Amino acid sequence: MHTVCFCQNVIEYQFHHGIQNERMKAMTIQIMHIQTNAEIQMCTLLSYVISVSDGIPRSVLKDWRKVRKLKQTGEAFLQDVSCAEIGTNVQKCRECRLDRSRKSQEPAISPVFCRFYYFRRLSYSKNGVIRVNGFSVSEQTDEEAVMVWTGSSEDQEGKKMRKMDLETSKSILALIGDKFCQLIKTEDTAFTWVKKDTQIMWKRAVRGVREMCDACEATLFNMHWACHKCGFVVCMDCYKAREKKKAKDKELYAWVRCVKNQPHDFKNLMPTQIIPATKMRPEGVKLDESPLADPHAIVPHDWLGNHRLLWLKDHRHQGNQRLFKENWTQEQPVLVSGLHKSLNPNLWKPEHFSREFSSLHSDLYNCRDGSVTDSKVKEFWDGFEDVSKRPKSDKGESVVYRLKDWPSGEEFLALMPARYHDVMKSLPVPEYTDPEAHLNLASHLPSFFIRPDLGPRLCCAHGVTTCPEQDFGTSNLHVEISDSMSILVYVGVAKGNGLLEGEILDECIKKRLKDPKETPGALWHIYMSKDLQKIQEFLQKADSDSEWDGDSDPLREGGWYLSPRLRQKLQDEYGIESRTFLQFHGDAVIIPAGALHQVMNLHSCIQVNVDFVSPEHAHNSYYLTQELRPLKDQMNYEDKLQVKNIFYHSVKDAVATLRNHLKEKNTDDVKQEES
Ligand SMILES: [Zn+2]
Ligand SMILES: [Zn+2]
Ligand SMILES: [Zn+2]
Ligand SMILES: [Zn+2]
Repeated sequence: MHTVCFCQNVIEYQFHHGIQNERMKAMTIQIMHIQTNAEIQMCTLLSYVISVSDGIPRSVLKDWRKVRKLKQTGEAFLQDVSCAEIGTNVQKCRECRLDRSRKSQEPAISPVFCRFYYFRRLSYSKNGVIRVNGFSVSEQTDEEAVMVWTGSSEDQEGKKMRKMDLETSKSILALIGDKFCQLIKTEDTAFTWVKKDTQIMWKRAVRGVREMCDACEATLFNMHWACHKCGFVVCMDCYKAREKKKAKDKELYAWVRCVKNQPHDFKNLMPTQIIPATKMRPEGVKLDESPLADPHAIVPHDWLGNHRLLWLKDHRHQGNQRLFKENWTQEQPVLVSGLHKSLNPNLWKPEHFSREFSSLHSDLYNCRDGSVTDSKVKEFWDGFEDVSKRPKSDKGESVVYRLKDWPSGEEFLALMPARYHDVMKSLPVPEYTDPEAHLNLASHLPSFFIRPDLGPRLCCAHGVTTCPEQDFGTSNLHVEISDSMSILVYVGVAKGNGLLEGEILDECIKKRLKDPKETPGALWHIYMSKDLQKIQEFLQKADSDSEWDGDSDPLREGGWYLSPRLRQKLQDEYGIESRTFLQFHGDAVIIPAGALHQVMNLHSCIQVNVDFVSPEHAHNSYYLTQELRPLKDQMNYEDKLQVKNIFYHSVKDAVATLRNHLKEKNTDDVKQEES
């Protein structure tokens, strides 16, 4: 028996907190934390020998000594190969079935995609035939499996990361603690749906695999239901909807059939959890807020328009973070200037892109009609700064192209490493936006899980040629499930581009427009995240003039660009006003998660987009990916972030920091008493 003691039930925590040198203030934090019943049994049956070849532990079935022993004893053992490798008399999961039906020349899929890999248990019968012997339960867990959920990221990544400081950990807990409790409560509710005498199974998390609901594609965080015959899985929402016989749900999220074309009955599915029998629950994190020192005087900044949007003028200034945080808490977008001064201008010239990647093909998005064509990238770059070289439509209008998200994330690094490093080293407010920053909650996700693609992504688009209605843009109205930042690294001024009529501009912006050193690139309209539903309603109404089918969501289709006329209407009828930014060369526009926004390029632009997950807006990511459906009969946005895992591991790391601090403080106290 091996007991992992995760945390004390209650940590009463008193310490001195320095606010500047002259002011010391005693603070009390009471963190009611974490009941844990992590009594974890060491699994002695299996030893995980990492095979040299591919990092996948070697199967017991490949060790004849172990096989001989298993045959003698008839003992149950864990399936540690894909179904396909076991033999014909054991039922195969749906993935392995699919694999078998493919052409035999194709290589077998990796066992990690098998639904029963490290989940189903097997045993040898008296005459030496393998048969199914149930599924894992969490008593059969082991230290390695528990480490994924309890160890700090520092332990796991095997590298010395920058230690999280006390302030940061407190701030993270204060901002996402409540949501985390809600997450745990949802899990607890799902546990109550399980009948008393029913065993809950345990599905070990597999490195690099994001488990998804087979019906609605939600990312599975912990509690879900699985079919013992074919490995079909559904999330809590899909399970509950079936139990309640929701007709709309049945239509939206069809359940695939089981073996022999049998329908899946929710009553026959096994309740299954992914986190091994540990529960982690901070119940109410109370933090005493300290008054912030006024840093405004020293940080170069200004306020834009009647919404007083923050404009940070020196992207490298040390004092940016505090000012940024104040505005970020209010869910306001922020503008940061001057990044081009830190970038190597030679890397971002269109002719260099054109030369290096001229033979490449990519999807070209036609901003005017929304059509997508697969063309040579060269065609795009040729017309970048010369409107006459752009193809013409039937009506004789020049085409306005956008290169769709090319390249992104790891592909960006592989394809253009110098540019990748050039932009990543100059990120503004790196305390939030750097991929490894503590306040970027995505950094807490252990590498065991699939790291979400948070960019950087290149966004290249032509300037919108003169069009009096201004009813199409470069990026239509859309929402991002994470916080995002767009850095304008190059502006290509082409004749025939650019329109700013009918735009009410702030005095600061007008001044910048007159400055010969400044080059305007793109016009942004950003709405507050709280207005999302009202805008949706507005668009559905606006759409009912044309043929509107009530089922689709106008925002998800991404078919709207709000012209000055529509924006005025939205303001008159709903009182909703957009935040307007003019993005100049070297500007970064930083947008909160869940805030609708649209972009129109005045000139041709090369932008680099970087996403991040701040504790301030993580609740929006949670809402968009987890909560839309049960509330409104609306589909959730795809949870590419694995939001619940991000919450879990961020809270885990923050709590670990507090615990370490407490430990250190106690040792200090003892030392002081001794001396
Ligand atoms: Zn399988
Ligand atoms: Zn589902
Ligand atoms: Zn099934
Ligand atoms: Zn966007």
